[in-house]
Amino acid sequence: MKPNTNKTSNLRRRIIQLAQQQAENEALFDSIGQGALATDQDGKISRINQVALEILGLKRSQAIGKWFPEVIIAEDENGQEIELLDRPITTAFLTGEPVTTSMYYRHKKGSVVPVSVTVSPILMNGHPIGAVEVFRDTSHEQEIDRMKSEFIYLASHQLRTPLTAIKTYTHILQNGYSGQLTADQTGFMDNIIESVDRMNEIINTLLNISRIESGKLVLDSKPLLLANIIDRCLLELKPQIKAKNLQIRTNIQHQNTVNTDPNFVHEVCANLLSNAVKYTPDGGKVSVSIRRSGNEQIIRIQDTGYGIPISSKNHIFNKFYRSPNVKQIVSEGTGLGLYLSSGIVKALGGQLWFDSEEGKGSTFYFALPSPTQAKS
Ligand code: ADP
Repeated sequence: MKPNTNKTSNLRRRIIQLAQQQAENEALFDSIGQGALATDQDGKISRINQVALEILGLKRSQAIGKWFPEVIIAEDENGQEIELLDRPITTAFLTGEPVTTSMYYRHKKGSVVPVSVTVSPILMNGHPIGAVEVFRDTSHEQEIDRMKSEFIYLASHQLRTPLTAIKTYTHILQNGYSGQLTADQTGFMDNIIESVDRMNEIINTLLNISRIESGKLVLDSKPLLLANIIDRCLLELKPQIKAKNLQIRTNIQHQNTVNTDPNFVHEVCANLLSNAVKYTPDGGKVSVSIRRSGNEQIIRIQDTGYGIPISSKNHIFNKFYRSPNVKQIVSEGTGLGLYLSSGIVKALGGQLWFDSEEGKGSTFYFALPSPTQAKS
């Protein structure tokens, strides 16, 4: 009888231990300050905490045991439902890797909640047997972002008027309308005008970023010759090109036309070309070409400059990002040009990408849709 009594009490102890562990796990799950849920290998919800239920407007009984896409409806920023294959839980299952992304979850009552989601697969012997998802409501962050954009827009707008006055009066002084200036004074005036122009550029960049971020970019499309835009940009950069003794090569057919907003195409080309000039050392080369490929015109801007380090390649289009290799060499820069350019290119229905090797140079490509003309 004794061995059996021992076995029973061991079993009882083990059951109590497991029940304790289970209770601890439940408490841990519920104490996560963010929404959290776990699924089994069939994608059925095995656990969900109170925060998740509140964000989704669900009762526990409406979620537990349900296939996750049936009870958690995810949408993109355009209100389109995200397909099962593109859901982070599916991606984590398929790749075995954690996934972090932003999307919108539909509340049971119909409203949408912006969420930041991280999903980690639960692996056993390398195979996914479930997933844990942690998500949080980002409405407050989005509201702060919107207010920041609005503030930047208003502040930039207000700065324009006094800046225009400074520029006007500087020109009056420089042109001698209120007395002849000495050579020194003329030099100082040149510096003031250069700084005012730079400030104007920054203000315009900030205004355009605010317009893009708030979805208020208004396009004024018309047929335009890309060659003219490139010529204008190169003319604007003439002083810098001369000061650095750069060789400029162009290969542009003059029939490269597109039907889009000339000011925004100019903004992107000016950014890409000024970067090529800025990040290429003295005596280097910058080449510009335009070619048609299918239904697109592709502008290619190549330089023999400092290039972009591998570690920076994924960040180059991020707001305020500047790669470490150029920060020391070229202090002038805001890290806004490529962020703005990528927003504009998206609004124009085009594409922007690059190849680069640190120490050798970079090539940026800007593709714009240009329907082929029907032959008569
Ligand atoms: P800015 O030039 O004002 O810093 P951008 O947004 O135009 O801002 O560019 C972001 C960063 O990308 C730059 O700071 C630089 O590190 C890198 N970059 C952009 N173009 C080039 C280029 N042609 N060659 C090397 N680095 C570049």
